[in-house]
Amino acid sequence: MRAELLSVGTELLLGDIVNTNAQYLGKELASLGINVFYQTVVGDNPERLKNAYDIAINRADIVITTGGLGPTKDDLTKEIAAEYFNKKLILDEKSLGEIMEYFKKMNYTPTENNKKQAYFPEGCIIVKNNNGTAPGCIIEENSKIAVLLPGPPREMKLMFNESIVPYLKKFQDGMLVSKSLRITGIGESSVDDAVGYIFDRQKNPTVAPYAKDNETVLRLTAKVNHEAEAAKIIAPIEKEIRDVLGDINVYGINEQTIEEVVAKILIKNQFTIATAESCTGGLLAGKLIDYPGISEVFLEGAVTYSNDAKVKRLGVTESTLKDFGAVSSECAGEMAAGIAKNAGTTIGISTTGIAGPGGGTDEKPVGLVYMGIYMFGEVKTKKFNFVGNRQKIRDRATFTALDWLRRELIEHMKQV
Ligand code: ATP
Ligand code: MG
Repeated sequence: MRAELLSVGTELLLGDIVNTNAQYLGKELASLGINVFYQTVVGDNPERLKNAYDIAINRADIVITTGGLGPTKDDLTKEIAAEYFNKKLILDEKSLGEIMEYFKKMNYTPTENNKKQAYFPEGCIIVKNNNGTAPGCIIEENSKIAVLLPGPPREMKLMFNESIVPYLKKFQDGMLVSKSLRITGIGESSVDDAVGYIFDRQKNPTVAPYAKDNETVLRLTAKVNHEAEAAKIIAPIEKEIRDVLGDINVYGINEQTIEEVVAKILIKNQFTIATAESCTGGLLAGKLIDYPGISEVFLEGAVTYSNDAKVKRLGVTESTLKDFGAVSSECAGEMAAGIAKNAGTTIGISTTGIAGPGGGTDEKPVGLVYMGIYMFGEVKTKKFNFVGNRQKIRDRATFTALDWLRRELIEHMKQV
């Protein structure tokens, strides 16, 4: 079974909005085991929309459109689909009643053109919209299927999950279940070098890498008849990958974030923490605080941007600043120890570096960042060189600080 996505909307072509509907549907259809070979974006233009329909219907079994189901004149997906399949548009009294009911609930007065949303191609399956007014519909004709969904993502997603997924299940031969391994400390090409032989060898589950900003993700996808089988066929391949890459380098799975992983370790062990940040300017504290429940262990975060603040708030010594500068391993170490001492925490973590674009020198270029971790009475420091613009350097530094902390915590717990 092949599906094709047709996103309708001139604002998509103009780049005014991002085609998140296609992204969402692409993912969902893959997990349903339905192949998608093409995605098309077309503006709100009758001729071009009809053309796009024609092309899509000829190379796919199902064409899923999003957008153009609204009440206005430029919403014409339904009209064009009806024309394409040679169907009359007829009023559906039940839908009209539901649309009027929705308006009443929302305290809006419907206009005459809202009635347009209650007209459907003859003989289609009407799909209720539980998040808005425009119902969707499914047209079945000569073993081809057209699924028409509304444009607003929250309406589209709900309708897809509530009504279209159950409808599509009857065409499915098996399903795809994925598990993603999130990897840090090894670049994409090194991951490829190390475990590429598994990608080539594996047919089920398939293994596919993709690089993200700070990490490499390996997506293992199993094609199965029942969800329960997936875990069984994924497990041995996952173990092989973890063994080859080193378990410590796999920081999480699926949608887990680095801050979530670190926060969970801190809370579980009741290790209190405080942050002292210069170049990351609060991003590190912010990430940790993103995790609900962190208040049990996160006691304090200081943004000590000036030298003066580093001295006053953290107790960094004047001589360190004079001899080594604020961007130095010595300063990072004193910052981490200083914040832990002042906040009375088990752990102190610090960042100090040059985020750019200005301020770099040959000796201390833009992207140079020192970090410090104070833990259980011991201070460690590390030097990093990040590339990118100011925002990227700060993001990378934040992610890297969290990952380094994760590694230190796991190491510490192995020893005790
Ligand atoms: P409405 O009843 O709101 O007019 P509609 O079904 O006619 O809905 P459109 O008019 O095409 O849909 O789009 C309405 C809004 O939905 C857009 O302004 C945009 O915010 C969002 N939208 C439409 N298509 C997409 C898409 N492919 N990805 C993300 N958002 C989209
Ligand atoms: Mg519209």
